[in-house]
Amino acid sequence: MLATEEAVEQMWGVTLDKLYDSEEGRRILSCIQCGTCVGTCPHGEYMDYPPRRIITMLKAGLIDEVLASDSMVMCVNCYACQTKCPRNIRLTEILLPIVKEQSLLQLETMPAELQKAIENTFRYGNYMGESARKRTQWTKTSKIPVRILSEDPRPVDALWLVESDLSYHPRGQDVARATVQIFDAIGADFAILGNEERSAGDCGRLSWEPGLSETLIDYTLSILKKYTYNRIIVSDPHALDALNFRYPMFGFSDTVEATVSFVHRHLDMLRPRLTKTLKYRVTYHDSCCLGRHNKLYDEPRELLLAIPGIELREMVHTRENSICCGGGGGGMWLDTYYKAKGMERLSDRRLREALATGADVLAIACPYELSRFEDAVKVAGAENRIVVRDIMELLVESFGDN
Ligand code: SF4
Ligand code: SF4
Repeated sequence: MLATEEAVEQMWGVTLDKLYDSEEGRRILSCIQCGTCVGTCPHGEYMDYPPRRIITMLKAGLIDEVLASDSMVMCVNCYACQTKCPRNIRLTEILLPIVKEQSLLQLETMPAELQKAIENTFRYGNYMGESARKRTQWTKTSKIPVRILSEDPRPVDALWLVESDLSYHPRGQDVARATVQIFDAIGADFAILGNEERSAGDCGRLSWEPGLSETLIDYTLSILKKYTYNRIIVSDPHALDALNFRYPMFGFSDTVEATVSFVHRHLDMLRPRLTKTLKYRVTYHDSCCLGRHNKLYDEPRELLLAIPGIELREMVHTRENSICCGGGGGGMWLDTYYKAKGMERLSDRRLREALATGADVLAIACPYELSRFEDAVKVAGAENRIVVRDIMELLVESFGDN
């Protein structure tokens, strides 16, 4: 049995060969072939076997044909099909990861960037291949001191999982430092794992590599056990997804909050600091994991609207209809593969929607989006028209006393 299938069976009792034996399996077979999933999928037009056809093939006992195709390599785990399915079939959570894992194993050659990301994550605990020793370097330039639990293991209220992009990527580090300023402004008692932290193992993004997701989860759970805390805060919606939807398969039941919802809960404490007017026209991109999968639509918008002067402009696809930036499900490392197939990058498509609003700021709340959209802005030559900013950065920019 495949690693993903095993984990899915543990949580929902589903295996591809015994769909009639479980409630979720029977739900998959209840598909009415409406085609909504195909129409909603941002890559549906490129797939030989979009979700609707996968189910037809399953019913016909022809799943091997699907597994031998690269349709699921094009799935960016955006949850759009699952959100819209009238039969409530958990496509992105259950069916697609199983098919995807097997499809990737059958590829003649694994796309090089993806292969490298997987190897780096196995070896270093982050896809960039950075050393664990460098994970806390960003804290040295933080205006506010950051408590690292391995050096100061006292109990803490909020254990903040910084994740890899915010720890290592230069723009991610800007966001990490801004987040610390926000936490300080709301009086949060927080600490980080520091060099002990590794990627939490995004449920959709990495689970298709047998064993990797489980290895990361085992490791993170063993480190978390060492410390006492009331809640976990995560800045990466992919890690939020892993903790909310995959860790419970391993007995994990801690309270987990996205940074945006944690800060939003303390907005009244933050408001007095938001005194500088920012005359920006801002459009907000809903992250797939934060929005469709965790239903956090209002919190990021209310944080933005708390900033004096901000005018919010919605894109044509917004909230549950938002278009993925293309980074999920391994898409972060499949741009070259997709390009060779003549596919347009979803980040380029989404940027056009952002530009069409006339906004001068594209606000985001997921670290993948920062690098993907900043690159899309460069490719479009739109540097003079729009900038990409994390919500935490905009909030800090509004601090009158900064
Ligand atoms: S949206 Fe749901 S019911 Fe409709 S074809 Fe897709 S899987 Fe089947
Ligand atoms: S999760 Fe998104 S990319 Fe994957 S099949 Fe569904 S709609 Fe398409």
